[in-house]
Amino acid sequence: MNNLKNLRGTVDLLPEQLIKWQNVEKIVLDQLARASINEIRTPILEMTELFIRGIGEATDVVSKEMYTFIDRGERSCTLRPEGTASVARALIQNGMLSNNPLQKLWYMGPMFRYERPQAGRQRQFHQLGVEFIGYDSVRSDVEIIALAWDVLGKLGIKELNLEINTLGDLDDRLNFQKSFLKWLEINKNSLDLDSQNRITKNPLRILDSKNIQTQKALENAPRLFNFLSEKSHKRYSKLKKNLEVLKIPYVENFNLVRGLDYYTHTAFEITSGALGSQATVCGGGRYDDLIKQMGGPNTPAIGFAIGLERLILLAGKELEIPRKTDIYIINKGLIAESLAMNLSRKLKNYDLLVELDLSGASFSKQFKKANKLKSKSIIVIGDDEAVKGEFLIKLFDKSVNGNEEEVISFENDIKLEKWIKNNLLVN
Ligand code: ATP
Ligand code: MG
Repeated sequence: MNNLKNLRGTVDLLPEQLIKWQNVEKIVLDQLARASINEIRTPILEMTELFIRGIGEATDVVSKEMYTFIDRGERSCTLRPEGTASVARALIQNGMLSNNPLQKLWYMGPMFRYERPQAGRQRQFHQLGVEFIGYDSVRSDVEIIALAWDVLGKLGIKELNLEINTLGDLDDRLNFQKSFLKWLEINKNSLDLDSQNRITKNPLRILDSKNIQTQKALENAPRLFNFLSEKSHKRYSKLKKNLEVLKIPYVENFNLVRGLDYYTHTAFEITSGALGSQATVCGGGRYDDLIKQMGGPNTPAIGFAIGLERLILLAGKELEIPRKTDIYIINKGLIAESLAMNLSRKLKNYDLLVELDLSGASFSKQFKKANKLKSKSIIVIGDDEAVKGEFLIKLFDKSVNGNEEEVISFENDIKLEKWIKNNLLVN
C-alpha cells in the first residue's frame, strides 16, 4: 500500500504541540467565562447557500476559497469557512432572539478555506470567535475590542497593533460607491488585474488590495471617510475617545475594509510584526444588517475572530511546558498490582497528575521512568508492602520541599490526604 498522507493545507496536531494549544485555550476560555460569554456550537457542514447569502457572493472567501460539494442527496454543502453566518442562522432558526434579544456568544473550532498553504495559512485552520448580538452602542464596540485586546494581553503577547476603521452604514457606502466607481473608471489602468476584476463585482474590496501599485493609485481616490453621515462620524469619534479612555492604543487605517461583505461601521484588526506576512491574528467588525438580511429580526451585532494557529505562534514558550507528574505509582507483583489500581483511582479525586505504571517491568526500570518524568513523588508497592496492607509514598524530585516519606496503610485515607496536602497541594 502507498503511504497515506494528510491533505495539503491540513495539519496533525501532535501531543507535544497540544500542550501549548491546551494552555492557550484554557487561559482564553477562562477570560471568556469571566466576561459571562456563552458558548455556541454549530455544525461544521452547512448548506452552501448560507455562506453565499451571509458572506456575499463576490467575496474572496465565497468565490474562491470554499470547500463545496454535492452530497448523496444532491444538496450543495460547504465546510464552514468562518463562524458568523452559522451563528446568525442558529440564532434565527432556534428563535433565540425572541427570548433574549441580547446575547454574548463565543465559538471555537475548525474552519476550511481553499487557499495556498504557507506559514500562518492553512486549508483547515481554527478560529475562536466572539459575537455580541443585539448590541448597537459604541460601548459594545469598545467592549468587544477591549476583550480581544485583553485576551491577547493575558497570553503575554506583546507588540500588537490595533487598526481601526469605520465603514459607515449602507447609505454612506452607496454614496461613496458612486464617486469611487467614477474614479475607478478613469483610473482602471493603474490597478492590478485582480482589482480591475473587482470593479463590477465588489469595488469596496479594492481598498483592501495588498498590491503596491494599486495602493499607490488609491492614495488619490475618494475616501469613504469623507462620505460618512454626521451620525456615522460622531459614532466613530466616540469609539476613538472611548478607546483612549481605556488606554488601548490604535492606529487608523482608512483602507481596512475586511474580507466579508456584511460589515458596517466599526472594522478592526489586530496584527503583529512577529507573524511575518500573514500578520493579522484577529479580525472583527460590526454587522448590523446581517441577521435581518438572513431573514431574522432587525438585530445589530459586532464580533471578532482570532486565528488560533497564529495565536499559538505568538504565545510565549512558557506555555509549551507540560504539567509535571505529581505521583508515579511503581508497582510489581500480583497483589501489589491490583492494590495499585485501586489506589490510583482514589488519587483521581485530587487535583493531581498521577501515572500508574502498567509495564510490569522491574522495579529499577519503573524507578528510571519516574526519574525521567521528574515526578514530584512516587508511591512504591511491592508484594512485601502489599502483604502488610501498606505502601510507601515519598518525595522524589529533590526540588520539592516536604516531609520526605511515609508508610501509609491502604485503609488510612486521612493520612494519605494529609500527606498529599502537605507535600503536593501546597500552593
Ligand atoms: P487574511 O487577510 O489573513 O486572509 P481574513 O481577512 O481572510 O485574513 P478573517 O476571515 O477575518 O481573515 O478570519 C479571522 C482570522 O482567522 C484571521 O485574522 C487569521 O488569523 C485567521 N485565518 C483566516 N484565514 C486563515 C487561514 N487560511 N489559515 C490560518 N488562519 C487563518
Ligand atoms: Mg483570507
